[in-house]
Amino acid sequence: MFKKVLIANRGEIALRVIRACKELSIETVAVYSEADRESLHVRFADDDVCIGRAPSRDSYLNIPRLIAAAEITGADAIHPGYGFLAENAEFAEKVAASNITFIGPTPEQIRQMGDKAAARKLAQQRGLATVPGSPGPVESMEEGQQVAADIGFPVIIKAAAGGGGKGMRVAVDADQFSQSFNLAKQEALAAFGSGEVYIEKYLARPRHIEIQIMGDTHGKVMHLCERDCSVQRRHQKLVEEAPSPVVDQTLREDIGDAAVKLAEAIGYVGAGTIEFLLDADGSFYFMEMNTRIQVEHPVTEMCTNFDLVKEQIAVAAGAPLTLVLNGNRLRGHAIECRVNAEDPSRNFQPSPGLITAYHPPGGPGVRVDTHIYAGYTVPPYYDSLLAKVIVHGNSRTEALARMRQALDSFIIEGVTTTIPFLGRVMRHPDFVAGKVDTKFLEREPQLLKDQT
Ligand code: ADP
Repeated sequence: MFKKVLIANRGEIALRVIRACKELSIETVAVYSEADRESLHVRFADDDVCIGRAPSRDSYLNIPRLIAAAEITGADAIHPGYGFLAENAEFAEKVAASNITFIGPTPEQIRQMGDKAAARKLAQQRGLATVPGSPGPVESMEEGQQVAADIGFPVIIKAAAGGGGKGMRVAVDADQFSQSFNLAKQEALAAFGSGEVYIEKYLARPRHIEIQIMGDTHGKVMHLCERDCSVQRRHQKLVEEAPSPVVDQTLREDIGDAAVKLAEAIGYVGAGTIEFLLDADGSFYFMEMNTRIQVEHPVTEMCTNFDLVKEQIAVAAGAPLTLVLNGNRLRGHAIECRVNAEDPSRNFQPSPGLITAYHPPGGPGVRVDTHIYAGYTVPPYYDSLLAKVIVHGNSRTEALARMRQALDSFIIEGVTTTIPFLGRVMRHPDFVAGKVDTKFLEREPQLLKDQT
């Protein structure tokens, strides 16, 4: 096992990894930017290193500084968390070249899945269904127009290097296509350094269903069932749950098998997620794979009673999977709400600043993963996630009631948060009935309005 793990991240996920390391008796190193000096991950780690100024490119994205921090502190492994460099093959490569273990898949696997157009092709070769679209990247506007006309509008133009809902544009007809195509390309180039895009048919009312995967270095891959992440805004997840209210055991096995097949095809090692779109007729289509731990991993942990981060660390150290679950261990129902420092009534404008009062919810089946506290200042430089409220209940009904009471008793003062908005979602008849798809919030704009 590792002796000392450096966490190349900040916020709640850095704390999450520190907790797992403590349980495994592994020492930890926190890295932090000048804006994060007062952060809890710095306080709770055994060792800490300031790696630069507040902007991410000067700190959390600076590969040489991260590796130097690991070398100075004698860390023998690096956990990348999610975001920042978690899916950067060059980082994984440089970590390995410094004789430090990267807690995650190989650089090759990150590359194979990081190019979404190539991943789509690989999935097709392995017999997984993909949404009808371009066979590969689309070079020119004319080629794009032709593909769109062939598959029929609406279509979605996606950055091959994309992630986090960026570099994606919908076009409803040929007129809109040229504008959307150019915008997607520009956005992709600016955000990911590559303007390569591909095209898919834009499904009318899909659900986002993803499968949690874990693979070891001994050739075993297991899946830990699905998460339903259909409540989204601009293609970004806000609420996640497990199991999905619309996935029965047969469908679970079908999607799970497809996911395992793809992960096995590349000998996948570590935690990963294979994302699908589930259409109203029950067909499911491979969308992409994320080669890291995800924000919403706790709902799976709550339903399987299995610690994904500890397992991730153990398999990186060469241990075999501790058990092979493959879909038969779900107990009860879990829901996660992402609490952001944002104002839903103002287009989710970020609301950084000083937290003047803080009281987290509690009680049976309530988990709060957060890095904030009273007196903490939310810096404006990073994403606006403040906390994840995760509840577990014996049934979906119980989990829902638990989430409502948890949100209602969650006090965060000083910054505007999405808590009231999430409370309204938890009471909306369609969400309560489990009848939502990725367009749910588009159809229900009144949920965004402040009703106090
Ligand atoms: P990212 O990598 O940026 O997260 P994804 O490819 O995972 O992007 O897609 C994110 C979301 O965008 C999906 O959950 C879904 O809501 C929407 N989406 C993507 N592709 C399609 C499609 N072909 N039809 C309808 N919605 C889509």
